[in-house]
Amino acid sequence: MDSDTAEAERIRIVIIGAGFAGLGMAIRLKQSGIDDFVILERAEDVGGTWRDNSYPGCAVDVQSHLYSFSFAPNPDWSSVYSPQAEIWAYIRRVSEAHDVLRHVGERIALLHVHLHRTALHHGERLQVLEVEGVIICWH
Ligand SMILES: Cc1cc2nc3c(=O)[nH]c(=O)nc-3n(C[C@H](O)[C@H](O)[C@H](O)COP(=O)(O)OP(=O)(O)OC[C@H]3O[C@@H](n4cnc5c(N)ncnc54)[C@H](O)[C@@H]3O)c2cc1C
Repeated sequence: MDSDTAEAERIRIVIIGAGFAGLGMAIRLKQSGIDDFVILERAEDVGGTWRDNSYPGCAVDVQSHLYSFSFAPNPDWSSVYSPQAEIWAYIRRVSEAHDVLRHVGERIALLHVHLHRTALHHGERLQVLEVEGVIICWH
């Protein structure tokens, strides 16, 4: 099937990036009973910042118990300011436990978004964007 005849897969929600933020959003969607989403991640693995930075001594500078998902406290942090590898493992472990890793499309970079409708709720700091289509790039 070529690109002209291929049927587009309809996905309700697209999350860009499988870092702390994207995976946290995905878990919250799951907890809300929403399963119809995909996470596009341009790298080969999840973890974002904590995947990309592995220099010696790389660690969190906010106490680990605070630098955690509120719904997934971790009594096993090895230190108050945990090292990068431990945080990366935590992100992966929690994502796995909440069954969101299977929603991640790795090595897919979002190149362009066509905004269909923008609703701004002034004063409420709420902005709703409806995405009409995305162009993705397989590396
Ligand atoms: C060394 C270091 C230490 C830090 N320490 C702290 C700390 O102590 N406390 C603190 O609060 N914050 C800290 N931060 C900031 C940290 O970046 C954030 O806390 C948080 O991890 C950011 O998560 P994120 O998901 O928003 O972004 P990221 O972790 O950057 O994840 C974004 C993801 O999106 C992907 N992506 C980007 N563009 C595209 C695209 N076009 N298509 C597909 N995928 C894409 C990226 O590959 C990446 O995986 C630190 C940052 C660094 C670098």
